[in-house]
Amino acid sequence: MKIYKFGGSSIHNSDHIKNLGNIVLQHKQEPIILVVSAIDKTTNHLEKLLNAYLDKADYEAIFLKIKSFHFELLPDLFGDEQTVVETELNKLFDALWHFLETNKEKDYDRVYDAVVGYGELFSTTILHHYLVKINLSNKWIDIRKTIITDFSFREGNVLWLPTNKNIKEVFTFNDTNLYVTQGFIAATLTHQPTTLGREGSDFTAAILAYVLNAESVTVWKDVEGIYTADPKIFPEYKKVKRLSYHETVELSYFGAQVIHPKTIKPLENKNIPLFVKSFYKPENEGTVISTKSDIKIPPIIILKENQILVTIQPKDFSFIVEEHISLIFSMLADRNINVNLFQHGAISISLVIDDKYRQFDGFVNELQENFKILFNKNLSLLTIRHYTEGKIKELTAGKQIFVEQRTRKTARFVLT
Ligand code: ASP
Ligand code: MG
Repeated sequence: MKIYKFGGSSIHNSDHIKNLGNIVLQHKQEPIILVVSAIDKTTNHLEKLLNAYLDKADYEAIFLKIKSFHFELLPDLFGDEQTVVETELNKLFDALWHFLETNKEKDYDRVYDAVVGYGELFSTTILHHYLVKINLSNKWIDIRKTIITDFSFREGNVLWLPTNKNIKEVFTFNDTNLYVTQGFIAATLTHQPTTLGREGSDFTAAILAYVLNAESVTVWKDVEGIYTADPKIFPEYKKVKRLSYHETVELSYFGAQVIHPKTIKPLENKNIPLFVKSFYKPENEGTVISTKSDIKIPPIIILKENQILVTIQPKDFSFIVEEHISLIFSMLADRNINVNLFQHGAISISLVIDDKYRQFDGFVNELQENFKILFNKNLSLLTIRHYTEGKIKELTAGKQIFVEQRTRKTARFVLT
């Protein structure tokens, strides 16, 4: 049994959805679970909807835009046979609208999961019906009844015991060879919707693969595998043929948007290979992630933009001691703010975080009670894994460097 994961860009228009259909048709004999993300940038649009809703701005316009975007895909996929899928999609949009109109919950993260998770319900509903239409009978599964997490909204931790049991009960392959289900979303034991963190669909694929002892997981992308740099930013890049699980975790930790970091561990534990392949060229080899890397890995470049460098200093110019660090990190943890880089000096520490947290201002305000805070916004965090001096020179030339950190294999720079 194999797991295929299709991300948002692999289904971003009706042609891509048809292409997905063709890929699955070519593997018709094999038992497959399709794990699917929201279409294109729907998750981002749902985030915008949510923010407008909470800011009491005109969220209806955003809602209607998301709705029409999905409905506009239907004529090309279904021709005159749209009624069933139309009805189902309407039900989902009605449910979302009803939620927004009646919601009393104030907790941002809870409301986030309840709203943003709809993207995957929309996409899999369309896909399920489209596959039926091209004679690929399949079973649509609501994964929220199967993958169970704790109450860490927006970053749900899987409760393996019930999840394991549910998955085995649901994905039996007794009466079908093909399942269609959602990535990214889950629920608590009390049926409250949760999510596994942005880009979490890869992780969903890994959870299913792990429990069901899948033969492999394939992540279908718009690129031909994992590259040494983002082709959209850097002119020079190469495909890496083989990466070890370990190396992949390191890369995603540093911010490479290859695979969601949580994906690797379950696969590694059961030695399940992960293929990253192009949905444009399914016959091409792609990258395989397993126990071994290529013998010589070239420098791999990872750039994270929109970073904030926060420098924190005790007001009395005393040394930074363990108590300070522990206080600061527990404040970060309380707010679910991830630190991308940490530097410890005698009288200050520096943190680099993504400029995406609503809680950032609250964090700074609270810190200011005891510390002097300086921060710079709009910085980039450049990581060069397997660096060479030449690569460092080339990529940092003419930039203002705020922080520099090197280990044996990795060089990192916070720069403009
Ligand atoms: N749709 C979700 C996101 O955009 C999950 C995923 O794509 O993996 O973050
Ligand atoms: Mg994705």
